[in-house]
Amino acid sequence: MPPAQSYRILLISTAVAPLGTGLGGGVELFVQNAVQGLQQRHHRLTVVAPEKSVLSNCDRLVQISGKLQPTAHTSQRDTPVVMPEPSVLSAMMTYAQTVQADYDIILHFCYDWLPFYLTPFFQTPIAHYVSMGSLTDAMDVVIAQTTMAFPGTVAVCTQAQAATLPHPHTYRSIGSAVDLSLYDFCATPGRALGWMGRISPEKGLEDAIAAAQATQIPLKILGKLENQAYWEHLQSSYPHAPIEYLGFLDTRGLQAAIRTCRALLMTPKWIEAFGNVAIEALACGVPVLAYHRGGPTEIIRPGKTGWLVEPDSVEGLIDAIAKIDCLDRQACRHQAETEYSLDALAVRYEAWFQDILARDSAT
Ligand code: UDP
Repeated sequence: MPPAQSYRILLISTAVAPLGTGLGGGVELFVQNAVQGLQQRHHRLTVVAPEKSVLSNCDRLVQISGKLQPTAHTSQRDTPVVMPEPSVLSAMMTYAQTVQADYDIILHFCYDWLPFYLTPFFQTPIAHYVSMGSLTDAMDVVIAQTTMAFPGTVAVCTQAQAATLPHPHTYRSIGSAVDLSLYDFCATPGRALGWMGRISPEKGLEDAIAAAQATQIPLKILGKLENQAYWEHLQSSYPHAPIEYLGFLDTRGLQAAIRTCRALLMTPKWIEAFGNVAIEALACGVPVLAYHRGGPTEIIRPGKTGWLVEPDSVEGLIDAIAKIDCLDRQACRHQAETEYSLDALAVRYEAWFQDILARDSAT
């Protein structure tokens, strides 16, 4: 169904990294998919992002210079709000404030305090997409203030993520998507398993490597090498693991490498808000073996498109690996097509914007 109305949308990207570097993690894919899905449905978008950002098929990209924000996933609960000067985030928000009258709505993706705090000072409504679970007290407080003062304006990826935040029932689940045309189905995999994501302790790569060492099944590893010391520690801890690190690949290379895997292992130590890599694997027909924790629990259909394993249990992973042949690679692709298309995502965004704008005009 075509959209009832075409919106003018100002999209504020993450301030932790230029788009296209991979350092933003899954949020980069959230931004790319929102842009593509909404443009395909004839909405007009301007994206504001740190300079050196690369974003394909975008109507208008405004690049802003300044120092990047630190990533939140390495914070402690009491880590204070920081704004390295000259701050790219404050410059992005100043830009948004200046041009806001030209837009119906602002869609915001930073996991940062400032845009939430500034919300009451904007005239154009702001839709906040929170792409990680609770990490710091400062973020919890400002997210809570925003969801209470502006009901319906804060969205999350999954209910598992919402459960980590204050007022868990006030968030709208928007989920994620993949551009299915970029991921090819593979019916006949090789012997290797796959693992992909940022190489950083919260992603728990050590458990996947331990399972590879125990089973002697090759493991392909893809992703941004975020923490070099951690990676070196893993290599020395598992000297006999049959692992191969392929580097950080673009989507084309990623899907070519992953689609021939028998399964994707997801072994996060934190509550994964969504886990974009799960739906990228499904889109290639690759089943997902994941810890029963966070976003993947809402994606995987156990016994059909993957297995959910007791968290932190390498034994559990090994058992699941032994049951990969019960899973159906066609069902994996089918699930990606029906639940995670760009169009389905854009329709969810539209319904969210419609509700925010209806409430805004009623006040
Ligand atoms: N990714 C990539 N190239 C790689 C490995 C991963 O582009 O070689 C991307 C992948 O497409 C996904 C992101 O890294 O979009 C990881 O996102 P996810 O939501 O799984 O985790 P996050 O990094 O947000 O914690």
